[in-house]
Amino acid sequence: MANRILIIEDEEKIARFVELELKHEGNEVEKAFDGREGLEKALSGHFDLILLDVMLPGLNGLEVLRRIRLEKQVPVIMLTARDAVMDKVSGLDAGADDYITKPFAIEELLARIRVALKKRGPVEVATHTLSIKGVTLDEDRYEVTINGDSIELTNREFELLRILMKNKNIVLDREKLMNEVCGYDYIGETNIIDVYVRYLRTKIDDRYGIKLIHTVRGVGYVIKE
Ligand code: CA
Repeated sequence: MANRILIIEDEEKIARFVELELKHEGNEVEKAFDGREGLEKALSGHFDLILLDVMLPGLNGLEVLRRIRLEKQVPVIMLTARDAVMDKVSGLDAGADDYITKPFAIEELLARIRVALKKRGPVEVATHTLSIKGVTLDEDRYEVTINGDSIELTNREFELLRILMKNKNIVLDREKLMNEVCGYDYIGETNIIDVYVRYLRTKIDDRYGIKLIHTVRGVGYVIKE
């Protein structure tokens, strides 16, 4: 898929040259020729990477970067004047991913862009997130999603799923599950866990074609990775 790259650079010759090279490599490119316009585009559009000149009219590159970082984690490569050590340090401090000194060889810039795009990787997963077979359970937000779809679960269904996912590959017996899900003082149907497992299978396994919860005959249930 084509990457969308924003070039914020007031030297139009450089901007056009880099644009041409990036398009040649299959990227989509937008340009801005001053700091304010660049910031506006950076914040309002979706970009996979931003090339940001430090010396810009309107709003300088470091300030643009600082404001971008308040809202976005998009990779940013700074273009700095030769030997402007302060710019490099301040740029990295302000959250730039990399910098390149002018004048630069286009091949080097393209290589650094590829590295920055690769490093981006998958979106960071929250600490209290469990994920198995495309089913993601967020313990902090009390949320279950499958391929981005949000799944509506009752508290007990959520608890049961959470315990099974936390103990993946371990068979849990009905009594333990009942204690965990319903509390130790629960008095009621002894097959309550089977009922909740059935609900979960209807909402998850059946609807999304996943085999998530396995029955271990005579013992209990397990979620296998
Ligand atoms: Ca400049």
